[in-house]
Amino acid sequence: MLEKEKNEGGQVNIAAAGPHKAKLHWAIEDLTNECKLQGIKIKTGVEANADMIAELKPDAVIIATGGTPIRPKSIKGIDSKNVVTAPEVLLGKVDIKNSRVAVIGSGLTGLETTEKLNENGNTVTVVEMAKEIAGNAWFQFVDDSMSRIKPYGTVFLLDTKLEEIDESGITVTSDKGRKTQIIPVDFVVLAMGVRPVNGLEKELKAKGINAVAVGDASHGGTIGNATQSAFKAAMEI
Ligand SMILES: Cc1cc2nc3c(=O)[nH]c(=O)nc-3n(C[C@H](O)[C@H](O)[C@H](O)COP(=O)(O)OP(=O)(O)OC[C@H]3O[C@@H](n4cnc5c(N)ncnc54)[C@H](O)[C@@H]3O)c2cc1C
Repeated sequence: MLEKEKNEGGQVNIAAAGPHKAKLHWAIEDLTNECKLQGIKIKTGVEANADMIAELKPDAVIIATGGTPIRPKSIKGIDSKNVVTAPEVLLGKVDIKNSRVAVIGSGLTGLETTEKLNENGNTVTVVEMAKEIAGNAWFQFVDDSMSRIKPYGTVFLLDTKLEEIDESGITVTSDKGRKTQIIPVDFVVLAMGVRPVNGLEKELKAKGINAVAVGDASHGGTIGNATQSAFKAAMEI
């Protein structure tokens, strides 16, 4: 197993950094120990590429390279200095305190990030394109998170689309683009989901190597989806 970071666990490390989710680390410990018990060699700090993999002459390759936060280039100002991602906030890579913050996306990641921002004295506005908060998430997780968010008076703008970002704030539209609102914020936090990281599949297939993508490298999902699709791929080899 090749892992480019210093530690195993991928995005579960980010998930476990969310409020009240530290026990998710158990999943990393459990699976890492299971691999070690089975004599699987884990090489961390090694970024795999197609040539390196070809040299190993594998009969099959399972690509579990995961996902990366969505950062739509179509939104003007998306690369501004005041734009950060939810994982950066959750992992403490950026320290935002006592500021006005817009969180873009109200999925569970957006809600967990809002909780952390609230705890750090920020005033948060959540912008969500859909008509409901965390529409795809299990309602108990949403209720649990919302019970901690509500006391802070976080504003949720539903059915509202982020159009533009600049240093002084964001421009959003609602009512099918008929209503425009400018919201002054200091920071914009993107929580718009992840897109698959999977350049390797095409490159390996071009070399005639049997390769299959699993987990978020195939499509963004959950730990359950990732481990199930990986199990299925392994059983088919
Ligand atoms: C904030 C947040 C909260 C979440 N909360 C939950 C939750 O509560 N419950 C849940 O079920 N899911 C949750 N998820 C989703 C879950 O973390 C992912 O679905 C899951 O981690 C996907 O697993 P994966 O193995 O497919 O990919 P990842 O976890 O992304 O792992 C991919 C790994 O591949 C490595 N890699 C990439 N390219 C290379 C390369 N070329 N060479 C070597 N290594 C490489 C990466 O460094 C990484 O370690 C959350 C996600 C986020 C971002």
